Amino acid sequence: MKKYRGLLLDADNTLFDYEKAEGLALEATLEPMVRAGQLAQAAAAYRSINAGWWKRLEQGAITPDELKIGRFADLIALLGIPFDPAATSARYLAALAAHAPLLPYARESVAAAARVAKLCLVTNGLTDVQRGRLRASRLEEYFSAVLISEEMGIAKPDPRFFHAAAEALGIAHSDLLCIGDNPAADVGGARAAGIDACWFAPEGATWPGPGERPLFVLHDLRKIVNLAQGVYP
Ligand SMILES: [Mg+2]
Repeated sequence: MKKYRGLLLDADNTLFDYEKAEGLALEATLEPMVRAGQLAQAAAAYRSINAGWWKRLEQGAITPDELKIGRFADLIALLGIPFDPAATSARYLAALAAHAPLLPYARESVAAAARVAKLCLVTNGLTDVQRGRLRASRLEEYFSAVLISEEMGIAKPDPRFFHAAAEALGIAHSDLLCIGDNPAADVGGARAAGIDACWFAPEGATWPGPGERPLFVLHDLRKIVNLAQGVYP
């Protein structure tokens, strides 16, 4: 099996436990705003509203700044509470940037992979949040490059995002492997750019597409160093 000189690693739900980070940040943000006992309901409403705003962002219908404020304007209107959406958004983003819980084995796996390949973080997200979490996680030192969709102005699965990652590492597409949990954004995007892909998924997960099941499927991050060295599984 071939070896890979560079790895493109997704951040959320590949290295970072995003659900946990979002839960902690929402709790810190909403606790002073809603009555005791309403926190879970408010957080669920936020998640549903937020998903709609991200979908519109990915379709190019709105800007990241509109998303940041709009999702809290919607939530505040829904709950009928007197708070300022912009100030609430700022508090939430600061809380989210400070919370960077990692998935099991993420640190040791990234450290081991960095010894055998050059690493590029490829993430769809907000600049301040992702930069803050990368710093808070102390994973920053292992990455030769960090690409964030907000600062790029393009998002995965756009092949241009992956071309930019190849350029940032100075490594040919054929020597790169992309690893991520999102079938369309990470696997589909990398393949559309001519880069091999590995789907990070729970054990026994069924590949939902797009396209054929990818070359590699991992459910244990400790194996990424093996993949870089041409050993699978
Ligand atoms: Mg992800």
